[in-house]
Amino acid sequence: MGRPLYGQYMYEKGQSLLKTLHAKVIKNRVEDLIYLPKTQQWKISLKIEKYETIFDELHLCCGDLPVMDPYSLESSPHYIAAPYPIKELGRMNWTSEPAAVVGTGLAAVDVIKWLVTQTKVSVNAFSRSNYFPTVRVLDGPDINWSIMSDAIFEDLRQQESFSFQTFNHLFEKQLQELGFRDWNSTLNTYLAPDIKGIQLAKKYPSQLYLLQQLASRVADWFTDLWPLMTNSDRKNYQDMYGKAIINLRNPMPEDSAKSILEAAEQGRLNILNQVSDISASEKGFVICSQEKAKLVVNHVINAIGYHLRPSNYDKANSLLRSLLNQRLAQVDHQGGLTVLPQTAQVISPRYGLLPTLRAHGTLINGVIYQNNSIIKIQKIAERAIGSHL
Ligand SMILES: Cc1cc2nc3c(=O)[nH]c(=O)nc-3n(C[C@H](O)[C@H](O)[C@H](O)COP(=O)(O)OP(=O)(O)OC[C@H]3O[C@@H](n4cnc5c(N)ncnc54)[C@H](O)[C@@H]3O)c2cc1C
Repeated sequence: MGRPLYGQYMYEKGQSLLKTLHAKVIKNRVEDLIYLPKTQQWKISLKIEKYETIFDELHLCCGDLPVMDPYSLESSPHYIAAPYPIKELGRMNWTSEPAAVVGTGLAAVDVIKWLVTQTKVSVNAFSRSNYFPTVRVLDGPDINWSIMSDAIFEDLRQQESFSFQTFNHLFEKQLQELGFRDWNSTLNTYLAPDIKGIQLAKKYPSQLYLLQQLASRVADWFTDLWPLMTNSDRKNYQDMYGKAIINLRNPMPEDSAKSILEAAEQGRLNILNQVSDISASEKGFVICSQEKAKLVVNHVINAIGYHLRPSNYDKANSLLRSLLNQRLAQVDHQGGLTVLPQTAQVISPRYGLLPTLRAHGTLINGVIYQNNSIIKIQKIAERAIGSHL
C-alpha cells in the first residue's frame, strides 16, 4: 500500500475513533504543563488561548524530538540541520557543487536518493560506521522459531532479570538453526560497510531475509526483556549486536538501494572514511577525512535523525524543555524520557513516579528498545494504557 493511501486510511480511522470516543480535539500548540501535586492533576497552557480545564491524566505523544549537531554547524548558512520534510529541499538552490550528507541511516538514504534523482550535485556521505541499512528482502519462507520460540520468550519475560549471556546463547543457537555458522562470520559475510553492504543484497537475498526476520524478532523480544537487563549487559549487547541488528531490522526499500547503487556507479556518490572534522568556511564547508585532507562542499545536510539524549535536550522544543526544567521529567542515559517501562509512567526527579503522566512513542525511545516504529509504539501504548484499566 502506498504511503498517501495509508495516510488517508489512518486519517479516516482516526476521525471515526474520535467520534466513537466523543473526544474533543483542540487544534493548538501546548506550550507548558502545570502539575498540581496535591491532587496529582494537570493543567495545560496553550499557545493562543487560555485553557482552564483540569485533567486527571495526561498522555504525552508529542514526539518532535531535537536533532543532534555533532559538528556545531547550526548557525552556518547552507547547513540543513534536519532533512524532513524532504520536499523542502526542493526550495533550495542546488548547483552542481558537491554536497555532504552526515549519516548513513534511513534518513540519509532518503536524502541521498533525493539528491541523486532531483539535482545534479555530487554527494559525499559518511557516518561513524559507514554501514547503511540492509536492503529489504520481502520474499521468503515462514520461519519456525525453534530456539527463540514463543514459549521460551513467555518464560523469560516472567523472570526478574535477563542476562546478555542468555541472549547470546539463544541467539547463536537460533542463528545456527537458520543455517549460519556464528555471528562473527555472519557479520563478515553478509554485512559490510559502504556501498559493498548494499550490493550484498543481490548476492545473498535468502540469507538477508532470514537475518532481517531474526533482527525483527530480537527487537520484539527486547520490548519486554531490555528493561530486565543490567546496564553492563545492555552495553555488551550494543557492542556486539546493536548497530547490525538495527541495520537489519530497519532495512531500506529496494528502489532506494537502486538509486544509491546507480549514483555510486556513475561516480556521483562518494563515501568518506574517518571524517575528523567539518568546519564552515566562506565558500561552504571544509571536510577533513582520511582520503581527502580538505574537501570543500557547498551544502551539508544533517541526516543523523531525531533523538532526545542528555547531550542535546537543550535543543528540545519549549514544552519538553519546560518539563525538564521543572524537573517533572528527565532525559534517561539510554535516551528518551525516563519512564517505568511496563506502564510508561514518567519518573520525575522531583516527585518520583508520576502516576498520572505517561509518555509514548519516540519520547521514550531508548528506555524502550527501538520504540521508533509504528507497530512497536502502538504495542507499548496499548500495554501502558491496559495496565491501569
Ligand atoms: C520519513 C520517515 C519515514 C518513516 N517511515 C516509517 C515506516 O515506514 N514505518 C514505521 O513504523 N515508522 C516509520 N517512521 C518512524 C515513525 O514515523 C515515528 O517513529 C513515529 O511517527 C513517532 O511517533 P510519535 O507519536 O512519537 O511522534 P510523531 O509522529 O512525531 O508525532 C508527534 C506529534 O505531536 C505534535 N506535537 C509536538 N509538540 C507538540 C506541542 N507542544 N503541542 C501540540 N502538539 C505537539 C506534533 O505536531 C506531531 O503531530 C518514519 C519516520 C520518518 C521521519
